[in-house]
Amino acid sequence: MIPRLKPTLGWSEFKAAFTLAKSDDIENFESDFAQVMRQKYALAFPYGRTGLMILLEALGLKNKEIICPAYTCVVVPHAILQSGNKPVFIDCAEGKFNMDLIQAEEAINENTGAIIATSLFGFPVDLDQLEKIRKKHNSVFIIQDCAHSFSAEWKGRQVQKEGIAALFGLNISKMVTSVFGGMVTTDDQKLFRQLKAIRDSRLKKPDKFKSFKRFVYLMLVYPAFWEPIYTLTNKLDRSGSLGTLTRYYDESAITMPKDYLTQITALEGRVGRANLKRYDEILYHRRQAADFYYDTLKKIPNFILPQKKNGSTFSHFPVLLKDRDKYIVKALNLNIQLGTVVEYSIPEMPIYGGHSPKCFPRAATLARRVVNLPVCGGISMAKKTVSKIF
Ligand SMILES: *Cc1c(COP(=O)(O)O)cnc(C)c1O
Repeated sequence: MIPRLKPTLGWSEFKAAFTLAKSDDIENFESDFAQVMRQKYALAFPYGRTGLMILLEALGLKNKEIICPAYTCVVVPHAILQSGNKPVFIDCAEGKFNMDLIQAEEAINENTGAIIATSLFGFPVDLDQLEKIRKKHNSVFIIQDCAHSFSAEWKGRQVQKEGIAALFGLNISKMVTSVFGGMVTTDDQKLFRQLKAIRDSRLKKPDKFKSFKRFVYLMLVYPAFWEPIYTLTNKLDRSGSLGTLTRYYDESAITMPKDYLTQITALEGRVGRANLKRYDEILYHRRQAADFYYDTLKKIPNFILPQKKNGSTFSHFPVLLKDRDKYIVKALNLNIQLGTVVEYSIPEMPIYGGHSPKCFPRAATLARRVVNLPVCGGISMAKKTVSKIF
């Protein structure tokens, strides 16, 4: 079965898992990560959401309004609340996945602490508009959520560098993975020191049991995503048998994972560092797959393709379909898994107020229509997908 996502793990990550732990495994990963993202500093966290929570604290934000997209990963507002602040949701821009920055600016008031600008699915956030907001409201921090974009570019400028700090997710569904984990990068030395001090005092060191669990998890990931076995993985996942191994958050409660304050293991540092070396290759394959989809799918009626944007990194290739479920079932019967990330508008969730779809109409529409085509396997998997389904 063709999986909707697949970590790019090979021999070097495997070897890294079997290498003896050294005290600087995590620091080495951090310095390589900073270098690849062309930032001065990078700090590792057990989850991206832990990084965001501690970042808000390090910026001195408490009881503030934090502006964020209605259409993004739900762990973002979870982390905002956990940090003692309040999320303020903004609908998507017309015809885009990213937040409407005009509405975002209108939502700014004297109690606004930060704007979380997300380059969803790897489509770069409009840095020109963001720059205008920053100039007019210089007390409002801009945080780049790069969990999907990594190093996406807007007119040649890298999104992760255009704010006080940037946030990354590193679980196995992300473009680069350290098994679990997250990263915060910044060019600001003062913020870096503050962030590191809080992190080092708040996070527990992982014990041997956590390292062992991560090792076993990684060893299961290799066969689980192998195409002949993936049908079984997918069945187990859909039946719920894989439980917390594949569920990254709970939609019915605002909670953080049990180990959200336990630092990543040295093993994850080594695996992440090895995987990061593939960043250019990973990006190349995703862009190839995306180009192929743009070329071949434009002829298919009722398909709305994402707006083409140079500098996109394609963590996903989202298309909009009115009869999404029909395609998902059809693909499944052909042994292809289509994704529906992100399949909710956060303000509609009961835990976030249960607003009517009319309040955030664009997010609501995307939540019901987006399907992600496989991009992880590059052009060959994209070709297989298109030839089978369409
Ligand atoms: C994955 C993700 C994060 C971080 O998620 P964690 O699971 O906490 O590492 C943040 N924002 C977006 C948009 C994401 O997809």
